[in-house]
Amino acid sequence: MRKPLIVGNWKMNNSTAESVDLAEKLKKVIKDMAGVEVVVAPPFTALGSVRKAIKGSNIKLGAQNLFWEDKGAYTGEVSPLMIRDLDCEYVIIGHSERREYFKESDEIVNKKIKAALRNKLKAIVCVGESLKEREEDKTMQVIESQLKKGLEGISTLNLIQGEIRNPKSEILLTIAYEPVWAIGTGRNATPAQANEVHTYIRKLLSQIFNEDIASNIKILYGGSVKLSNSAELMSEKEIDGALVGGASLEAESFTEIIRSACMV
Ligand code: PEP
Repeated sequence: MRKPLIVGNWKMNNSTAESVDLAEKLKKVIKDMAGVEVVVAPPFTALGSVRKAIKGSNIKLGAQNLFWEDKGAYTGEVSPLMIRDLDCEYVIIGHSERREYFKESDEIVNKKIKAALRNKLKAIVCVGESLKEREEDKTMQVIESQLKKGLEGISTLNLIQGEIRNPKSEILLTIAYEPVWAIGTGRNATPAQANEVHTYIRKLLSQIFNEDIASNIKILYGGSVKLSNSAELMSEKEIDGALVGGASLEAESFTEIIRSACMV
């Protein structure tokens, strides 16, 4: 049974004080919610303060990006070691905004995933097609290519935290299906559209790794998730949670999305 996972991607929003305020509000309202895992990914500048604000709560911390080397002369970059040092458990990799604005290729995504896994960070790897690709009926082709190139050279062993035979061992990989045309546009994939792609992703994961591993990897949906569509999306068999952008910036809307995942 895959426990639902809801991740709030705050992107380049909020001052440190605003981030702490949001984290404190969330901490209060979700303290009694069981059966769901919650992660917030503030901007790098607020990670240290949010870490303190959520201490002792059931909220986990994630980073929005990382560099693939552990240290060195890479001005402006943030290493996996620095992220670990701030108690981040998760890191988002390959978000479509990074692929588009910073020209992150599948090869770069692959290096970043390897760096995350090497440092025992849980990688949330984003894949998704553009509107043009969907209209040209190339969705599955794009997903397959992004997934296979992104995960090239990564073995089952790299994915597992702890003993491979221990059922409590955690998998360090989560996939987020985020159709580019649905991110920040208010236009979401229908639950059936999302579930179809998620089913295909799981099939690919079982080819890349094996069926057992694939059945334990969470596949999140992202793209204009909000209160009005979250319950319906979350009730699909292959949707294990959500990566939420805009609606995670307000405690009320994010809490309601988390609540809808608890009820599935
Ligand atoms: C995202 O940032 O990953 C995202 C899905 O954004 P939004 O929820 O605003 O569409």
